[in-house]
Amino acid sequence: MILSNDIESITDKLIRDYYPELKGIVIRVKLKKGKGFFMQTYLVPYFMYIFLGYRIEIHKSALKMSKESFIGCLGHELEHIAYQHTMRSGFFDASDQDERVIDQRLIDRGLGKNLFAFLKHHNSKYKKYKKKDGLTEKEVEKQLQVFNEAAKY
Ligand SMILES: [Zn+2]
Repeated sequence: MILSNDIESITDKLIRDYYPELKGIVIRVKLKKGKGFFMQTYLVPYFMYIFLGYRIEIHKSALKMSKESFIGCLGHELEHIAYQHTMRSGFFDASDQDERVIDQRLIDRGLGKNLFAFLKHHNSKYKKYKKKDGLTEKEVEKQLQVFNEAAKY
């Protein structure tokens, strides 16, 4: 369970620990109600971000998730913004970015366990994510196993 009052501090800490390149950028995380997407990032073209900032919307049912899963979900959305910064791209829409690339960057950043926890939660409650939506639960699990194997030596 996540409290809506905690979202800001969770976001700040996540940026501090994992997304140093996003420090100081205005990123608003809002909860949304109703149907449609579970989470979404509203990008702005790179050269506009200083004026406009970014907005992430997450469905309020996400508050029922564990903190571990919630961070997987939030991290995925922050990764869309971080990717925009790496590319300095003018894309206005996060859906122009490849979801699988975004998830891979999340794993490489060290948030693979969180992504896995999120996918597990999401797939058990909603329509299962497919390959075009990002890395699958199985694919992420496999990568985490490889990490664990490597750590033994
Ligand atoms: Zn995405």
